[in-house]
Amino acid sequence: MIDRRLAMKLDELDGFPEPKLSLEQYETPGEVIRVLLSVAEREFGLECSRVLDLGAGTGRIGIGAALAGACEVTCVEVDSEAVKVARRNVKRAGVEDRLEVVEADVRDFEPEDQYDVTIMNPPFGAQRRGADRPFVEVALEASSGVVSLHRAGTEEFWKRRARELGATCDTVGLVRFPVPAMYPHHRSRIRHVDAAILVFKKID
Ligand code: SAH
Repeated sequence: MIDRRLAMKLDELDGFPEPKLSLEQYETPGEVIRVLLSVAEREFGLECSRVLDLGAGTGRIGIGAALAGACEVTCVEVDSEAVKVARRNVKRAGVEDRLEVVEADVRDFEPEDQYDVTIMNPPFGAQRRGADRPFVEVALEASSGVVSLHRAGTEEFWKRRARELGATCDTVGLVRFPVPAMYPHHRSRIRHVDAAILVFKKID
């Protein structure tokens, strides 16, 4: 069931021990994951699906998908410390029979399978402009559909880019989530980030 209890369970998982600024490591809040999973369920169906999570960090999104009925989940994450946390979280959540964490840069990831949907929260490109571009490209190669979070204001860019990649892109919601001031350049203790929930669908 994709409900508030699932969101709370995801929030209780371990976070990044020392978040890395260059990789834009923020945990995706459970409530935001709940919305992403509901959109994936509605648009693509999650029951016994194959799900990919690129830039999986602590594994929360993939774990959420596994708990929501996905039969096969692959989480891809470049940072070995985050991978350790994700693997620990996977065991804690009891989904290790259907979730694999792969340590790889998304740009080098070669999917062995075709996935039903990619659900992800890639870096927004605050540190490196366009950091989320390879994520969408790889996601569209590896799966029929994508549900992902991007910085609010980039929706029109993604609509155009999707067309070039042979896909459609629709904005299905906006979320504002708190990010704790974990980095020295954040002045206030809590900042908010506005993000758009985008759904990409490959045109066949
Ligand atoms: N959903 C995750 C957070 C995602 S934050 C959670 O809740 O824990 C974005 C993630 O993308 C970070 O973990 C970061 O390490 C990872 N990342 C950044 N660049 C990457 C790349 N090139 N390849 C794979 N992962 C990357």
